[in-house]
Amino acid sequence: MTTNRIILITGANKGIGLATAGELARAGHTVLLGARDPERGAAAADSLTGQGLDARYVRLDVTDPATIAAAAELIAAEYGRLDTLVNNAGITRDFGTTPDQLPVEDLRETYETNVFGAVAVINAMLPLLRKSAAGLIGNVSSGLGSFSFLADPDSPIWDHANLLGYNTSKVALNAVTLVYARTLRAEGIKVSSLEPGHCVTDLSHHSGPSSVEEGGRRIARQLGEALAGPSGQFVHPDGGRYPW
Ligand code: NDP
Repeated sequence: MTTNRIILITGANKGIGLATAGELARAGHTVLLGARDPERGAAAADSLTGQGLDARYVRLDVTDPATIAAAAELIAAEYGRLDTLVNNAGITRDFGTTPDQLPVEDLRETYETNVFGAVAVINAMLPLLRKSAAGLIGNVSSGLGSFSFLADPDSPIWDHANLLGYNTSKVALNAVTLVYARTLRAEGIKVSSLEPGHCVTDLSHHSGPSSVEEGGRRIARQLGEALAGPSGQFVHPDGGRYPW
């Protein structure tokens, strides 16, 4: 029997975030789709409620503190708790460029979304996660953020090891995972990094071997593994663990 969980996914109006939302809603959970654009966010939620699923759009720009605070207030008022936070919103500005050509402003923008945005949402949602019987934070990372892979010329990601903004932001996000896993361990809130695999989305410039649906299925499955297993893991898309 499925225990209904209240789940917030950032960047859920399209791509892997929306696919994950569909998977989790079909599994019987209440899914809150965080999105910065009201029209696209509402349309995404409608695409799920139209199938009879329990989904709802929540306005949330991870770089805008006012929308983060308003989202936390709405969830507190309507649901009283949050069981799972999926920090999925992410951007890249450095495909097709080299590290020396990437404007520092683009690097900063990447960190604002991929790292500081995730931290801001975690901090705002923590009081609600503390009200859950089994709080979980899943940070959608990437194998491109594995320090071990970045240091290894024989690693499977070596061809993409030159993406300064994206890769280093995911390394930083992985460090965020470990720091919060350590900090929240005593409270029983688990924190892990997840990896959807290389999927065809706008972010990947529609490259990759996997469909967006496969990515969503992997993230949904990994959330289950992260909830059942120890905190502070970097879950591999095919099961098992990535090296940090
Ligand atoms: P998409 O570009 O399809 O989706 C990204 C989502 O993030 C969109 O909904 C976008 O909203 C949202 N977003 C961006 N900035 C913000 C913001 N400031 N506030 C709220 N939402 C925001 O990419 P993917 O689905 O591919 O990426 C999802 C996650 O998966 C990312 O973290 C990415 O790094 C990770 N990932 C993806 C892989 C792949 O191969 N695709 C592989 C490994 C990891 P909007 O439509 O408004 O721009």
